[in-house]
Amino acid sequence: MPRIEIVDMVAVQRAQPRGTRPDRMPSLSPRLADALRRTLSRGEQAIILLNRRGYAHYLCCASSKCGWTLDCEHCDARLVLHTGRGLPRGSVVRCHHCLAERVIPDRCPGCSGKLIAMGVGTQRVEEELVAEFGAESVGASNALVEGRTLARVDSDSMRSGRDYFETLHRFGAGEIRVLLGTQMIAKGLDFPNVSLVGVLCADAALSMPDFRASERTFQLVSQVAGRAGRGAKAGLVVVQAFEPEAPALRRAAEHSYEAFAEAELGARRDAGLPPATRMARIVCRDREFERARAAATALADSLRGASSGGVEVLGPSPCAVGRIADHFRFEVLLLAPSARQVQQAMAAVRGMGLLKSDAKTAIDVDPVALL
Ligand SMILES: [Zn+2]
Ligand SMILES: [Zn+2]
Repeated sequence: MPRIEIVDMVAVQRAQPRGTRPDRMPSLSPRLADALRRTLSRGEQAIILLNRRGYAHYLCCASSKCGWTLDCEHCDARLVLHTGRGLPRGSVVRCHHCLAERVIPDRCPGCSGKLIAMGVGTQRVEEELVAEFGAESVGASNALVEGRTLARVDSDSMRSGRDYFETLHRFGAGEIRVLLGTQMIAKGLDFPNVSLVGVLCADAALSMPDFRASERTFQLVSQVAGRAGRGAKAGLVVVQAFEPEAPALRRAAEHSYEAFAEAELGARRDAGLPPATRMARIVCRDREFERARAAATALADSLRGASSGGVEVLGPSPCAVGRIADHFRFEVLLLAPSARQVQQAMAAVRGMGLLKSDAKTAIDVDPVALL
């Protein structure tokens, strides 16, 4: 088992020189940067995981009094900054929900202030690694500088399965020294020369409005940690987080699956959530806000009427992303002790002609995500 250390990124950012701009904070803590330097100088390899693609999560006004952010016109979401080769040329902002793109305004439309790019994505980390470690990115024209090569693996850089397997092959052959990527690289890779794994923003998923956020965080950290020290060498895992005391991270660092599972299952049981119960999620969407809400209300009412004992109907409530591609979204959650009771309640409402699988209604039994 590799040793797992958690680094408190709040403390790391506080230790930056006074006046450091929030968008200039380094992505790698001194601890991880130092470990990476040693790993490379020993001729070993490293994996850096950041489960967020693009360059920055969002663009906002530098003035804290203004607070303007660049949002998608069609969704209740911020636009993610993607960069071509170097900022600002070749850059674009893109919606990760509807895939719309738009040009980046020069200044804040609210107060004409400067715009800054907040929240790191894999592209920004790639840029930092190239600058700090003299790494050469595989995509760059003068790649393959001996022993310093870096490859970024995410759904933007990997156009096909072939790209992915070819990159892994080159990493396995030692030609690529650092693999940086999203959860695409978290699972199943077995390279004996990897002695360091870094996880950036390990607690990012904890802020998601989803009851599985903690489980996902534990799983991601445990999975990627398992990539270090597969060979004879001792492995080190550096987990960077803004909430270093989060139980999901602490338990993962202690390799205590049982303690995590016991606490998590207990909490789910108390809250009546899966796996203690079965769940169905119905999302009603419509271009008209009121029509979406009315459809979800009718559905929730009839589900309540059709449900037997032990079945709970929650909602309607706006989805975590309340509007996608100009459609407003409301959800109804059905919780029941057994899958049969879920099906019975749904069948009863379907019989009334209220529940149709069409463009306006999405039914998800045992949903994996609640966004
Ligand atoms: Zn959008
Ligand atoms: Zn502004």
